[in-house]
Amino acid sequence: MVGVRGRQKPAKVSEPVDAVDVLVTSGRRRELRALGQLLGAPFRSELASSSREALLRTAERDFAAIVIDATSPALDGFALARAIRARQRTRRVPLIFVIERDADAPRIYRGKGFAPVDHVVRPVDRDVIRAKALASADLARRERRSAGHTEELERAARRARKLELTAAAAAADKRFANLTQAIPELVVTLDSAGSLEFCNRRWLEYTGLSIEHSRGRGWVLAIHPDDRRRSVRAWERSISSGEVLEIECRLRRGFDGAMRWHTCRALPERDDDGTIVGWLGTYSDSEELKRAIRARDEFLSIASHELRTPLTALKLRLESLAHTAAPDERAARRLNGAIRQTERLERLIDHLLDASRISAGRLVLERTAVSLGEIAGEVVGRAREQPGVTGQVFDLVIEGDVVGTWDRMRIEQVVENLISNALKYGGGRPVGVWVRGADDAVELTVSDHGIGIDAADLSRIFEQYERAEASQGQSGIGMGLYIARQIVQAHAGEIDVESRLGEGSSFRVVLPRSARPPTPLH
Ligand code: ADP
Repeated sequence: MVGVRGRQKPAKVSEPVDAVDVLVTSGRRRELRALGQLLGAPFRSELASSSREALLRTAERDFAAIVIDATSPALDGFALARAIRARQRTRRVPLIFVIERDADAPRIYRGKGFAPVDHVVRPVDRDVIRAKALASADLARRERRSAGHTEELERAARRARKLELTAAAAAADKRFANLTQAIPELVVTLDSAGSLEFCNRRWLEYTGLSIEHSRGRGWVLAIHPDDRRRSVRAWERSISSGEVLEIECRLRRGFDGAMRWHTCRALPERDDDGTIVGWLGTYSDSEELKRAIRARDEFLSIASHELRTPLTALKLRLESLAHTAAPDERAARRLNGAIRQTERLERLIDHLLDASRISAGRLVLERTAVSLGEIAGEVVGRAREQPGVTGQVFDLVIEGDVVGTWDRMRIEQVVENLISNALKYGGGRPVGVWVRGADDAVELTVSDHGIGIDAADLSRIFEQYERAEASQGQSGIGMGLYIARQIVQAHAGEIDVESRLGEGSSFRVVLPRSARPPTPLH
């Protein structure tokens, strides 16, 4: 029985003014009621006569403090306290144990980790329990306030961060928009599926399309009908492979309908995981450049034709002079030197003519059954006879069936070019020529042990007028390999090179034996 000292009026409590919810638990109902009455106003006591009931109540609502009668065997006060502490909602609610007068209070807390915890002893003094309940409630209120305050601060910090990010994103968008307006290119951004999301003012001005008409797939209408299919396919290929797009096409100028050539470049934009989230594309006007290239090629074509006629006449005259007259040895050497120079000039002019033919798309193949081994043998034979090549060692190896349907003259030109380069850049060391028949292709390898090519130059040397650094001491205009690659590609073949500076080079050509049927368009 809870000893209740005195039945005097409840002591005046100065604070708080608000009602304070306290949960009182005891295994003995009478004591439970007595404790509830002792607390009186401003406490709003709820009574629980079992641990289960107490836990149910605390799950339903918040209490400022919980009084646990730890003196009744019917309710294990410590087990209840542990269960209360284990729950998130009641983890920090102050607990007040009711204990026997002679109980060892420190033992109660030892090892239990119940904090904050207080206790009152029997017989329970009204003022003491009220004061303790008030102190606990006050503590709980302060804790709640400070937790609320921290939460408020965190919320404010989150809000500020969000605002900062939004402002930074808006500033970045503005800079992007300004940049796209400042450059002369037409700029578009597409989503990952190829739908237009943004276009700059230059795009709208040039194409005369509105934003609405450009959106989605509308932008495609700005492309010349003849280039549209090819362009869309190239875009689709890039969208599915994620590779950078680079393509030439004509775009319709809105105000006069002129179709001007543009170079389109597009880069994928990826998120942090590397997934493509969109495409950034630019169209730059290449009409003037195209015109200049056309004019150059036309000039080269005309000039080469015009140069070839007097040159052929000159060469014939020199040759007949060499045969008819019986010059002394010195004069004969000079005549032969002059004939070689005319032949060099002829080769140069042929290269220029070929280049202009290729860029005008006029490289036509005349295919017949040809043996690559025979061609290699003839070219090596002619190279051996060249003056100044005496003592040069050639290792010619021919393996298997090396016949295919190719343009004999053009393939001869490729072999000639590779062998003359091997002589020119081979430092006088042996040159290997290896022709090998595979299942449906024939392979030619020309290797030397000369100056070699720097890795940085390897990809350039197959382009027009490109020469490697190391070869600058030798004469040449950088057209031979360009033409060779065009010829090999026209035969659906491949040409590549392996080389090390100072160690030599190995050029490899692979030619399919027969013309492959063109890939059907779908
Ligand atoms: P050219 O020899 O007239 O300059 P090519 O197009 O035949 O033009 O060759 C392009 C460049 O490639 C050469 O200028 C040279 O720098 C490099 N090159 C070609 N073949 C060899 C080789 N066998 N060894 C080293 N460099 C080579």
